[in-house]
Amino acid sequence: MAATDVKFPSALDGRTIEEERLHRKQQLAGAFRLFGKFGFDEGVAGHITARDPEHLDHFWVNPFGMNFSHIRVSDLILVNEKGDVVEGDAPVNAAAFAIHSQVHAARPDVIAAAHSHSIYGKSWSALGRLLDPLTQDACAFYNDHALFDDYTGVVLDTEEGKRIGHALGDGKAVILRNHGLLTVGHSVDEAVWWFITMERSCQAQLLAEAAGTPVLIDADMARKTYRQVGSPVSCYMSFQPLWDMITREQPDLFD
Ligand SMILES: [Zn+2]
Repeated sequence: MAATDVKFPSALDGRTIEEERLHRKQQLAGAFRLFGKFGFDEGVAGHITARDPEHLDHFWVNPFGMNFSHIRVSDLILVNEKGDVVEGDAPVNAAAFAIHSQVHAARPDVIAAAHSHSIYGKSWSALGRLLDPLTQDACAFYNDHALFDDYTGVVLDTEEGKRIGHALGDGKAVILRNHGLLTVGHSVDEAVWWFITMERSCQAQLLAEAAGTPVLIDADMARKTYRQVGSPVSCYMSFQPLWDMITREQPDLFD
């Protein structure tokens, strides 16, 4: 079978609402375990959200203060459009609500959004620049990410979240200056894969620029490569080995 023949699952894909909710929560718990494994945690910072398939203005998110590496399906909390926790008994990170509620509202097509204070993403964000098409992998973001060129402290106001949603536009990622990365996807897998590969693209550009003057991929080739590595199908295939690894290593995430 050629890689291009792979059929990737779309939203619902024949599942009931209840099955889809469980599916998203399992993906979300696995996503946190991957964030923990990659070392993307820093204190209480960082959140990944999955839109509820029934209540479309509600999202599932990590409980405030819980280590990414410990999160199970049963630990996830459901937050409504006002920021109230309506399922689960842990508080929500105020910044998670301020940012993610507005990103989900601005982008009805988005199922999931991921953000953390990962080291290379936040280092790169301090430069106030978009990523260049420096490597094949970085081309996934070519003309498909934005810069939120402002910093006003910890995001606790939904107005600030609205401005971040506006800066994101219809792209797959936004670099929050002096803060870190935020990625979105049409599934949890997508938001998480874009985050992981974007973090590594930030690392690659920081390393290349520290070592010398990188040669950029020209615009035509960057566009072509974008279609190859920046698509949902490519994203789905890239994510599966990580999913297989984390679910085999840490099956308690399903609890
Ligand atoms: Zn943050």
